[in-house]
Amino acid sequence: MLAETAVLVGVRMRGSRMDFADPLGELRALAETAGARVVGELMQNREAPTGRTYLGKGKVEELAAMVRELGARLVVFDNELSPSQIQALEQEVSGKETPVKVIDRSELILDIFANRATTREAQLQVEIAQLEYTAPRLRAMWSHLGQVTGGAPVGVGTRGPGEQQLEIDRRIVSRRLVALKRELGDVQSRKRREVAERRAEHFTVGIVGYTNAGKSTLFNALTRGGAYAADKLFATLMTRVERWNVGGANSVLLSDTVGFIRDLPHHLVASFRATLEDAIHAHALLIVVDASDREAPMQLDTVRSVLDEVGANTQPRHVILNKTDRIESLRHDERASLRTLDEWREREPDAIAISALTGAGFDELRARILSLVAGGVRRRTIRAPLSSARLIDAIEKRCAVSERRYSTELDEGQRPGASSEPDWVELVAEIGDRQIEALLPLGEPFLVDGEDPRPKRANWSGGPKRRAPHLIDTPEDVD
Ligand code: GDP
Ligand code: MG
Repeated sequence: MLAETAVLVGVRMRGSRMDFADPLGELRALAETAGARVVGELMQNREAPTGRTYLGKGKVEELAAMVRELGARLVVFDNELSPSQIQALEQEVSGKETPVKVIDRSELILDIFANRATTREAQLQVEIAQLEYTAPRLRAMWSHLGQVTGGAPVGVGTRGPGEQQLEIDRRIVSRRLVALKRELGDVQSRKRREVAERRAEHFTVGIVGYTNAGKSTLFNALTRGGAYAADKLFATLMTRVERWNVGGANSVLLSDTVGFIRDLPHHLVASFRATLEDAIHAHALLIVVDASDREAPMQLDTVRSVLDEVGANTQPRHVILNKTDRIESLRHDERASLRTLDEWREREPDAIAISALTGAGFDELRARILSLVAGGVRRRTIRAPLSSARLIDAIEKRCAVSERRYSTELDEGQRPGASSEPDWVELVAEIGDRQIEALLPLGEPFLVDGEDPRPKRANWSGGPKRRAPHLIDTPEDVD
């Protein structure tokens, strides 16, 4: 953890996507999440960064003075810096006896990821990202050491001791990377299998959204589980999966994921993809936005484009406008200049407004998911053998059954009227398409309005055969 006093620096170039009202807001949240105490902030508007120190000369001096005055030991840039710029900046702002560390946004995020990685998978991803990020910096580090220790000059064509060390380090790093990536590959293919199995057996819903939007709070409220919810970015890197009862004895598997952030460093996109595995394969996605945040529209755009990027674009997405209680309470605050709920409704007509804290809007959310799970509910007659106890039980539990008719199938040569137990039942029930699909994996034959509901066998495309998700409530029911 970066338990240090820090100064934040942001350089706003033309066309950058910073929040004008609070340009360093996200960086501040990130720094605080990493454990730093922010004591000062510095902004500069520039056409383009200058090469050596990124900031202009005057601004570097201003930064050095600020660091000295506030006793900061850490400088965090919102912009991405090259290894040599970091080195030059460290020289400029460090005092004689007080070294000051300069890091950029990527390094800050890596540090947070490293501290939050609790699963083996997350740890592997973070170490890979860190090594990939560090490797290009080794040169700057060793050439820097060469100068500090007065060693052999390090430059083009020279091979001082630093240079040899650099070669050795590079080889160690690349060997370690190969080993880590192999292990990660194994972990991930196991995980992919698990996700695919979950998907085959249940209707799955993934919660995604910008960090701090209230995903974990919503997850906890819906599942009464124990996901960690805190006013911190990426409180956890783990995906949690819990059962959520959406009514009518229908439950779905809900997953909570890490949050999205603006301009995710490209080294982290891969790890991000893996943490989003559950969401990518979910049958439906809930995009949670903090509707009380000024930046929410930008955040919603970010989430949508990242989802497209990682390939989560085949399932329906439902926008959930969260923290509506806060919109109400901030309405009279001039500075807030928030979108009102009406403005949101105009922009996102299908969105569902909720408050994860108060539970407002949960009924609508549940109804929306239930209709997805059940799909096209109407009155149908289902004919099944009475011996199919599990099938009949499932229909009785999940659907409103209005009529039950029993009948006997006559064998050839059997006299009508001979007393025998009925062996068929006809249930008249309100049942949805998906609920019917969900009955198929039970493997017991039945007819819906006189027709076999099993898919016709004319699938020449040879595409992957998918089992219908089913809604059996207890895992014991599953074959
Ligand atoms: P996540 O990063 O998306 O998982 O966000 P969290 O669930 O950890 O929530 C972030 C912060 O927002 C916490 O302090 C929550 O208490 C707060 N929060 C979440 N939902 C609501 C809400 O509906 N209303 C208000 N006022 N605060 C909320
Ligand atoms: Mg969370």
